[in-house]
Amino acid sequence: MMLICAALSSLGCGADKPIQKSDMVMDTVVTLSASGAEAEAAVTEGMARLHELEKLVSPQLPDSDVSRLVQMAGSGQWVELHPEVYHLLAVAQDYAAKTNGAFDVTAKPLVDLWGVGTDHSRVPSPAEIAKAQKLVGWQKLELDEKTHSARLTEAGMGVDVGGIAKGMAADEVRKIYRRHGIKDGLLNLGGSSIYALGVNGEGQPWRIGLRHPRKDDAQEKIAVMPLTDEALSTSGDYERFFEEDGQRYHHIIDPRLGRPAQSGLMSVTITAADKLEDAGLLTDLLTTAVFVLGPEQGARFLRTMPSGISGALIDSRYQLWTTHDMAQRLEEVSQELQFWQESGEWQ
Ligand code: ADP
Ligand code: MG
Repeated sequence: MMLICAALSSLGCGADKPIQKSDMVMDTVVTLSASGAEAEAAVTEGMARLHELEKLVSPQLPDSDVSRLVQMAGSGQWVELHPEVYHLLAVAQDYAAKTNGAFDVTAKPLVDLWGVGTDHSRVPSPAEIAKAQKLVGWQKLELDEKTHSARLTEAGMGVDVGGIAKGMAADEVRKIYRRHGIKDGLLNLGGSSIYALGVNGEGQPWRIGLRHPRKDDAQEKIAVMPLTDEALSTSGDYERFFEEDGQRYHHIIDPRLGRPAQSGLMSVTITAADKLEDAGLLTDLLTTAVFVLGPEQGARFLRTMPSGISGALIDSRYQLWTTHDMAQRLEEVSQELQFWQESGEWQ
């Protein structure tokens, strides 16, 4: 009986019908889908876990770990964090050091000053930027591993995990899927953080469209990424921005300059193999970091990462910079894009 069902399942046996649920979490639409005997439980538990994690990192909730940390800024007191949040900050600090502060969760005062994506977005004065920058610096966020605690050394500092929380949340849901033996499924956190397992309902690899960075229609693709047992994240200057005097000001800040990064990139997509620890968190963090670093430095940095990580960077001249095996894997690449070869030749 088991055997018959196993054989039939590949042809669409009823038990393997994908389960799918959507909800608003972390200010974005999340869709979880899964196939397998325990798909329903995995999706339900996964969604509950996302709501739980949101409560830990939400800047709006006064009791969240992030809010408590910010409230205590400058007091000298250590704030004990939940293990997931501690881990999130520990990885963030590791990459802040590795990127010389291009990625920096303490950029919050600058994020707030520019207000990109809010109703008070504006170009601040150089004096305002200098003032906010004094409150930014990853070295001023201290962590204590023994007690899973953290503190911000100066009053007025902030922490913004908006660039990484969804990736960490995807990893946590992925763990739940593993416990339920889910082999096939898709975690989609707002389109920018994705985790694909196995195959889709048609038995094919999942196919993720990379959005065209300059078309208003979010459905317009510039390439397609087939994805199996991998996390994928994208950061782009088209997600949240405002324009003034012909200049685009977007939501990814270069903390060292105190302003939206003008690194010459329009979008960064990174994938990480499921076998890598923190695959979702890493892709989410690296897209933001590489966006700030720009094409040359960003690609160079990515090439120092282990195999299993690969990147596709689109610069403002529609030149596509790829690392690892990305160039071979991308499909339906728009003719607008030119591949940058490591030999230094454009193709
Ligand atoms: P999205 O949330 O749209 O997927 P990203 O993952 O690229 O976008 O993250 C951008 C968010 O990260 C910003 O909205 C801000 O909250 C935060 N952020 C901006 N600049 C930095 C930076 N240099 N380092 C760390 N976080 C940043
Ligand atoms: Mg990110």
